Amino acid sequence: MNLEHRSGPIILKGVGVSPGIAIAPAYHFDNRRIKVPRFNIHPNMIEKECNRFKEAVSKAREQIKQIMEDLPDELKDHASLLQSHLMMLKDKMLFDRTLNLISKNKINAEWALEKSLEQIRVLFKRIKDPYIRERVEDVEYVARRVLNILAGDVSEDLSSLNEQVIVVAKDLSPADTTQMNPEFVKAFITDMGSRTSHTAIVARSLGIPAVVGLESASTQILSGEILIVDGISGEVIISPDKELLHKYEERRKEYIKKHLETIEYRELPAETLDGFKVTIKANIEFLDEIASVLDYGAEGIGLFRTEFLYLQRKELPSEDILFEAYKYAAQRLYPHPVTIRTLDIGGDKFVSNISLGEEKNPNLGLRAIRLCLKEPELFRTQLRAILRASAFGNIQILFPLISGHRQTMLVKKYVKETQEELRARGEDFDPNIKIGLMIEVPTAVAMADILAREVDFFSIGTNDLIQYSLAIDRVNEHVAHLYEPLHPGILRMIYQTATAAHSAGIEVAMCGEMAGEMLYVPILVGLGLDELSMHPRSIPRVKQMIRQSNHEKCVELVEKVLKAKTAPEIRGLLKNFIKEHYPGVVINEENGDIFLLEEVY
Ligand code: PEP
Ligand code: MG
Repeated sequence: MNLEHRSGPIILKGVGVSPGIAIAPAYHFDNRRIKVPRFNIHPNMIEKECNRFKEAVSKAREQIKQIMEDLPDELKDHASLLQSHLMMLKDKMLFDRTLNLISKNKINAEWALEKSLEQIRVLFKRIKDPYIRERVEDVEYVARRVLNILAGDVSEDLSSLNEQVIVVAKDLSPADTTQMNPEFVKAFITDMGSRTSHTAIVARSLGIPAVVGLESASTQILSGEILIVDGISGEVIISPDKELLHKYEERRKEYIKKHLETIEYRELPAETLDGFKVTIKANIEFLDEIASVLDYGAEGIGLFRTEFLYLQRKELPSEDILFEAYKYAAQRLYPHPVTIRTLDIGGDKFVSNISLGEEKNPNLGLRAIRLCLKEPELFRTQLRAILRASAFGNIQILFPLISGHRQTMLVKKYVKETQEELRARGEDFDPNIKIGLMIEVPTAVAMADILAREVDFFSIGTNDLIQYSLAIDRVNEHVAHLYEPLHPGILRMIYQTATAAHSAGIEVAMCGEMAGEMLYVPILVGLGLDELSMHPRSIPRVKQMIRQSNHEKCVELVEKVLKAKTAPEIRGLLKNFIKEHYPGVVINEENGDIFLLEEVY
């Protein structure tokens, strides 16, 4: 598509995952792209350049062999794929062609390899059999590995941007998102992704408007084209005309004004009209967010996703680095609690310095507590840091992805042993530190009555609980429409968890994205959750909603909801309830969806 050929604005529709409106030029980002140096070489240098290429190829072979060796038994399927990658490195098409180009065209190895790749792409395009045609991806993978070695690992990164843009990408990893500076990245849009992917969660933490699941935006938009991104409705407008620019500029101002107004609610307690109190806490990924946790009136940190301390550096963080981070959080928040979750790597979050092997289903793989129990030293380092920091404030420990009683007893044993170790070292810690479990695996719900007797609190992680219960990949845009927090099965699970916790006399929190949405407040209040933890920016709106609620009426609503058979039935009940009990909260019924206008413009 050519810029001059656009006859008017084009509107794309995706999923708005981080609110706000941005207007800026597009910037294409490809996290798989390597900046390839291109230069001509002197004929004397040809042999040297060919050798440099051969060395890079043999290094790539060593890397692939190492990956094959490290492959656990259950992943042996991948061995044949990797074997084919090894063969490709020897293949005439790639290897000999590149060497020929270096000598014939007198160009550097990276450039020659890129050129061979271009020619190979053309050849593959002509192949009729779709399976073989798609194997070009394997050739690309292998070539990228060699290019990376040649170029000294210089993949593009977003932290160096120094002008205001809207990042357009096929997909972004949470690590890419953490590099964004909100001063320059005014918004981002991706073809893939969904509301509860960690990339979306990070966008909300940074306050960067974002739209995901646009399917083909990255191929339709050209770098430099002006875009409007509406992170609330999920609309992206390419090449807007004057009228649209004006309209959205007004909306942007209105949004900011509304946002500032709701902030007024931050000082008020989250208490219903009939005196039922809900504790409101914040979810954070970075220490920098502590200022906004306090600004938005949170009563503590309900979820500190500590994996971002690992994502931000090349080496594993030491016990002291973790300790300093946790101590800082504990001191800044004191007397409020800081709930530190142990490492939740895996799923859609990867760290270059922890090798998980190649997994077909990372969300069902070596993730979170499973990794920690497999790598005891990794786990103990975190526990030592958390416990040492507990001497400086009010810290609680939260364990992710717990599936049952055995794991619960095991993590408790680790905590006890670490306490003994620290005592022997003469270190201070809080001996009564509270221990909590994330309830996010369906078996933990089924076991909730038994687990509740072993710990001090539960925190329901709806992002994963919904993913694992409804068998919906939380980062797959093709099934995003089936991801339904109002599914009666999900609400019954939350009810079962809350009832089990209260019968055992412990508190139950919710820290998944569901806790931060105004729409669900009447149900969450009616279910009797003691605490809701959300990204700081959602706090004023949720507080506002709680302050308009009547607990007794919400309980009556929940009684009806728990008898309902389908999600649309529950949506209908909720819609009518909001219309009746929340004056000033408007529902947009344009497309049949419940849409809280107050929250929007
Ligand atoms: C959850 O699963 O709901 C949760 C809060 O944890 P995360 O999103 O980090 O997996
Ligand atoms: Mg989770």
